[in-house]
Amino acid sequence: MSFLSRLIGPRVRCDHCGRTYKPNLTDKALPSGGAVRRFTCPHCGTVTIVAVITPRGVELQKRIQDLDLSDRGAREALARLRAELKAEVRRP
Ligand SMILES: [Zn+2]
Repeated sequence: MSFLSRLIGPRVRCDHCGRTYKPNLTDKALPSGGAVRRFTCPHCGTVTIVAVITPRGVELQKRIQDLDLSDRGAREALARLRAELKAEVRRP
């Protein structure tokens, strides 16, 4: 089964210890300014990297978080930033 099909549904099976768990995704900052999105098996500590985010992608995420959605035009800005962000997030 591929990694992506294993991700569908609330639980994943650990490649290392074979136990299942609900992944808790976190972003870890890299010295480059980018980040990796990952989750850790609570049973054996195996880390699975889901996505690599470029430094520009991290900056775009911050801008998305800082958007005031009550502001006129913010929704358009959000759609544009999300489209830009997509190009800055890569599968490992
Ligand atoms: Zn494990």
